[in-house]
Amino acid sequence: MAGHPAHPLALLLSLAFTVVLALTVPTPARAAAPQARTQAPGFYRMMLGDIEVTALLDGTHPFPVHEVMTGITTAETDKLLAAADLAAPVEGSINAFLINTGVRLILIDAGAGVLYGADGGHLMANLRASGYTPDEVDEIYLTHLHRDHVGGMDQGGRMAFPNAIVRVNRRDADFWLNPANKAKAPPFLGPMFDGAIDSLRAYVDAGRVRPFDGEAQLDPAVQALPSPGHTPGHTAYRVRSRDGQTLLAWGDIVHVAAVQVADPAATVKYDSDQAAAAQARDRLMAQAARDGSWVAAAHIAFPGLGHITRQDGAYRWLPANYTAVGLTQAR
Ligand SMILES: [Zn+2]
Ligand SMILES: [Zn+2]
Repeated sequence: MAGHPAHPLALLLSLAFTVVLALTVPTPARAAAPQARTQAPGFYRMMLGDIEVTALLDGTHPFPVHEVMTGITTAETDKLLAAADLAAPVEGSINAFLINTGVRLILIDAGAGVLYGADGGHLMANLRASGYTPDEVDEIYLTHLHRDHVGGMDQGGRMAFPNAIVRVNRRDADFWLNPANKAKAPPFLGPMFDGAIDSLRAYVDAGRVRPFDGEAQLDPAVQALPSPGHTPGHTAYRVRSRDGQTLLAWGDIVHVAAVQVADPAATVKYDSDQAAAAQARDRLMAQAARDGSWVAAAHIAFPGLGHITRQDGAYRWLPANYTAVGLTQAR
């Protein structure tokens, strides 16, 4: 386009005018961004030596401490909760743990599936968010057959983990998968029987449920450690890396850390045998404290990974320090 070239001073003045205009003319107010109201994906990862451990969140659930806790007074419960800045009901996590040994992909517990309504059933989405697919899971080790551990096994009558072998302590399988026991049990346990039977039906039919006895070495890296009391065959799993680090996936040894770590005698009404459950809690906490082992807990606040220490006879739960060692940072 023809014309006189702009005088450099005119250009400078025009630029200055634009800047002044931008500074003095108010921009119209914008509406606030809508609140997102979503949580971060529910997975957390750490390395245990050569073994990859991924905590998977199934959901959180209000734990009605006053109705469920036994072996402790309500006043004492409230005192321990207040010391942790908590009050009943306590929002508890439902955690599962994915162990990649490098040879096998093992899932410890499977969450509640649809059995806890909107409070559970997020394990599958979190498993995918963590970089795995359900068909990659080789084996599933269940700590016990309560609904919040076994419900996620089922997906509309089909196996949610189509290639998995299911391992469970024979005492739990014999107890919960036998409808005759439901008739003899207190009514509040009825849904527990239904949940176990329905959630495992497809695997039982396919011959995929393989019960074990005692301290079975289920994998070169994982050993079963029976800890009966909460249920007849409740079992913790000890994961051991090649360099000797250990992680104790202890299922329902502790439901509410603020109460039961401080007072291992505090039991829950769902314990099949209250005295044995309290004993198992004391024994496993002592073992974790002595060995310096990692603990992977099913209901302690997500990711449920931490350590137990013992000082002056009292146990304490130390939650994991956030780590990215041995991992690639998310981008
Ligand atoms: Zn349980
Ligand atoms: Zn549970």
